[in-house]
Amino acid sequence: MLADELEKNLTCRIGRDVPLAPLSTLGVGGHVECFLEPSCMKDFQSLFLMRAKDSFPLYILGGGSNTVLADGFVPGVLLSTRKWNGISWCEAGDGTVIAEVQAGYPLSSLVEEAAQRGLGGVEFAAGIPGTVGGAVAGNAGAGGRSIGELLAELTTVEPDGNLKQWKRGEFSCAYRSFPLANEEHRLIISCKIVLHPMPREAIRAEIEHFRSVRGIQPRGERSAGCSFKNPAGAGQSAGLLLDQCGCKGMSVGDAIVSERHANFILNRGKAAAKDIIELMRACQERVLERTGVCLKPEVKFLGFGQNAACGLAGEKLELCAS
Ligand SMILES: Cc1cc2nc3c(=O)[nH]c(=O)nc-3n(C[C@H](O)[C@H](O)[C@H](O)COP(=O)(O)OP(=O)(O)OC[C@H]3O[C@@H](n4cnc5c(N)ncnc54)[C@H](O)[C@@H]3O)c2cc1C
Repeated sequence: MLADELEKNLTCRIGRDVPLAPLSTLGVGGHVECFLEPSCMKDFQSLFLMRAKDSFPLYILGGGSNTVLADGFVPGVLLSTRKWNGISWCEAGDGTVIAEVQAGYPLSSLVEEAAQRGLGGVEFAAGIPGTVGGAVAGNAGAGGRSIGELLAELTTVEPDGNLKQWKRGEFSCAYRSFPLANEEHRLIISCKIVLHPMPREAIRAEIEHFRSVRGIQPRGERSAGCSFKNPAGAGQSAGLLLDQCGCKGMSVGDAIVSERHANFILNRGKAAAKDIIELMRACQERVLERTGVCLKPEVKFLGFGQNAACGLAGEKLELCAS
């Protein structure tokens, strides 16, 4: 059995048949065969090495704040980075300061600690939940800024279990996209983030600004953030298009489009992943029919096997999925 093999090779605890719903902010999903939260590098590397030999399904999870986890029984391993969460700071010599951050470090703690140290650059991330690794993997951002622009260096665990360092210029990022993380099955294990000394009051003011912009988002409710990316060249945000097409309040089971912000799908209690996906597809179809714009999912689908969300999502979402 996979769990027994993992136990032989790794030092961390192997969770068996673990419920998925508590592991994401959206709160949907079934059970995963094996759940791991390593806190030492060797375990991460050994796991990838095992997978290179045995090719079992492997899914990476940070804070689970941008993720729809699959219903039913999910074979394979869900790997959490949350216990790999150290940070260290050093002066670069050119006046900037480098934060060397492990993947599972909370993004909100990075924002707060930088502010306390009088270091600016990451204020736009105030209020974005999740881990630094997850933020890099999706190039998270707000107000035209994103985490990718702050990266000096990345370290990944490659599919063969080896570590690889990537300098700036060896990776690229775009709006909500970080190809390096997606093009092959690799884990961002740590990164170096460049920050600049700034007056503390100015940093606090920026943080307050970004927090206040979030006032239009639903609060204290279960969601995975924005369901769809803003479409390039459409001149309007995905939220506005969804709103104009009357999507607010549309629902499938316990999944409902927020009345506050049309790009947020909420889990009112017992929604399943299939409800979220069906609702996303209905919204996508409606916007396509009425505006000709095909919205692409921003949320990630984990545990659905090779076909990502496509098997459940139907042709439209499959057609449009990024
Ligand atoms: C209320 C709310 C508001 C939000 N506001 C914003 C916003 O303003 N801007 C924004 O960009 N996002 C926003 N989000 C979405 C989400 O918080 C961000 O995308 C966040 O950066 C995801 O981080 P995570 O650790 O939770 O990633 P997860 O959801 O755990 O994972 C997301 C994806 O990244 C992959 N991944 C995670 N960690 C790694 C790693 N170490 N190496 C390789 N791949 C990895 C996963 O496999 C998955 O595909 C919001 C979400 C919520 C719930």
